[in-house]
Amino acid sequence: RTVYVNGNYLPEEEATVSIFDRGFLFADGVYEVTSILDGKLVDFAGHAARLERSLTELDMQSPVSMEALLDIHRELVARNGIEQGMVYMQITRGSDGDRDFVFPDPETTKPSLVLFTQAKELVDTEAAQKGNRIISVEDIRWGRRDIKTVQLLYPSMAKMMARKAGADDAWLVQDGFVTEGTSNNAYIVKDGKIITRNLSSDILHGITRTAVLKFAREAQMKIEERPFTIDEAKAADEAFTTSASAFVMPVVSVDGATLGDGAPGPVARRLREIYIAEMRKAAI
Ligand code: PMP
Repeated sequence: RTVYVNGNYLPEEEATVSIFDRGFLFADGVYEVTSILDGKLVDFAGHAARLERSLTELDMQSPVSMEALLDIHRELVARNGIEQGMVYMQITRGSDGDRDFVFPDPETTKPSLVLFTQAKELVDTEAAQKGNRIISVEDIRWGRRDIKTVQLLYPSMAKMMARKAGADDAWLVQDGFVTEGTSNNAYIVKDGKIITRNLSSDILHGITRTAVLKFAREAQMKIEERPFTIDEAKAADEAFTTSASAFVMPVVSVDGATLGDGAPGPVARRLREIYIAEMRKAAI
């Protein structure tokens, strides 16, 4: 595989970053994951806009312009011949060779930019056909989940708790209300209405969420943006999650309670179909 590190396209074995990089020592960095369909990037503009916002919130600057970043994404996809899969991109604050809580001087310390691709079937997946079983886990993450940082230890632990409980994934719960999934936004459907938590610093502002809600509105579906409880989720007609790499993923059970007939629901299936068809058309 060819990867990208700070201006160079290299075989993955030859790619290196300093052990003093603040991404490594402090999880001081941000990332984006962009899907590839038919060898093209899905919603790059959405990812670039959120990246710029994440960087601004952390007082960091991209080492390259968003136009250059798009070119790097495309070049890497082409070099690796990816038809379906994703591009992972991260920017960390770099390092001036010391470990210090104080940020290094941005005049002399450049952030590190790293990208790599992963080939993966995204459309015809067993998970999408079967749907995910979800457990709830307390949300003990920090309070700025709207910034897409590389601090993913707790979401990773929550996913392991799900696996140990025989489930596929976890939804995080704070003060009795679902915030989001470990790596996705969470939705329930009740009496034909789609309910998903409103945007705030409690959740990541999903790029897929924005697109899916737009398609749902265009299809005259009813949407309520508000927090919901796990009890509401257990009593829902259906549920699903959204993320750039899994699109719309049906949820078939919550904390052991089966939703509907235990198969992916009609709203989730329809939104998945619309999302994939529309994003395929718009991919660049
Ligand atoms: N919430 C969290 C915590 C996530 O990690 C992700 C995936 N990056 C999402 C939501 C979904 O965001 P997106 O649709 O932009 O992938």
